[in-house]
Amino acid sequence: AKDPVRVLVTGAAGQIGYALVPMIARGIMLGADQPVILHMLDIPPAAEALNGVKMELVDAAFPLLKGVVATTDAVEACTGVNIAVMVGGFPRKEGMERKDVMSKNVSIYKSQAAALEQHAAPNCKVLVVANPANTNALILKEFAPSIPAKNITCLTRLDHNRALGQISERLNVPVSDVKNVIIWGNHSSTQYPDVNHATVKTPSGDKPVRELVKDDAWLNEEFITTVQQRGAAIIKARKLSSALSAASSACDHIRDWVLDTPEGTWVSMGVYSDGSYNVPAGLMYSFPVACKKGEWTIVQGLPIDEFSRKKMDATAEELSEEKSLAYSCLS
Ligand code: NDP
Repeated sequence: AKDPVRVLVTGAAGQIGYALVPMIARGIMLGADQPVILHMLDIPPAAEALNGVKMELVDAAFPLLKGVVATTDAVEACTGVNIAVMVGGFPRKEGMERKDVMSKNVSIYKSQAAALEQHAAPNCKVLVVANPANTNALILKEFAPSIPAKNITCLTRLDHNRALGQISERLNVPVSDVKNVIIWGNHSSTQYPDVNHATVKTPSGDKPVRELVKDDAWLNEEFITTVQQRGAAIIKARKLSSALSAASSACDHIRDWVLDTPEGTWVSMGVYSDGSYNVPAGLMYSFPVACKKGEWTIVQGLPIDEFSRKKMDATAEELSEEKSLAYSCLS
């Protein structure tokens, strides 16, 4: 039998956490034969709720779940973890300035970076979900210099999956037959969902999405805004932000990272830019990536047209501004 993998979930008493921890305990993140020990962290006001989640995990009697740590102590939470899913963050409340929210999150991610750096298992893989996800991940990277940059990522897989879902609905094909959409840039409304390289499986081979949709106006406008604004649409409908889809995508992100993307397929991940596609180096930017043996690489050589270039640059610009704002919160 395999040794258990320790998985940290921060903000575990929140809505995404509540949807995520049972998925992890059922093997959806790391596989049906991989035992796990869950480490759950939340802040003291949420300690009682967190303990309730722990009770439910015990009650669910998950065969793969070999232990649960539920704590408000970051050091205890981070000790020995192999995977860290950072969902805890300070929400933007009505009337709050962007800078105030940024400042709260910068201090959270700075201190959690230190706890992970000192106490996580070597080669721990980190996924930041909490918003502003890209910039929180960048701060975490800056303050955990001994964790390799390639081990620190942020979630844009939900946006990626939303794009797959929209194409699937439009063409009335199974979502599993659609692949290779790309989310470029920030996990925000400036993200660029790109279908120029996406394909759909048909009886006569893979066909480009553009050829099948036959409506460039829809693909260049409504499709893009629908994906960009999907989070807001869910809040309007549910009166709560998306949680099950966020949790499911976080599992997809880690699963593909650890267990490989299928041959000929890529997914979107927010990663530390090396300057690929002329995206400024040093930003956490979402790229198309393929994963093998636990490592992602940016898919190279895709042709970029002028329409895409503008949108990729606009979202990079927003990330540069967020980065400056985050740094100004440090001083
Ligand atoms: P959620 O579980 O709904 O969301 C958690 C974070 O994920 C938020 O930052 C949210 O951003 C972000 N997120 C990223 N992508 C998505 C998406 N697609 N849909 C929805 N959210 C997304 O929030 P809760 O308030 O229920 O739970 C947060 C937990 O974090 C609480 O248990 C709280 O106690 C804890 N917390 C921890 C702090 C700390 O570690 N110091 C500080 C404050 C809270 P967005 O806000 O933009 O929706």
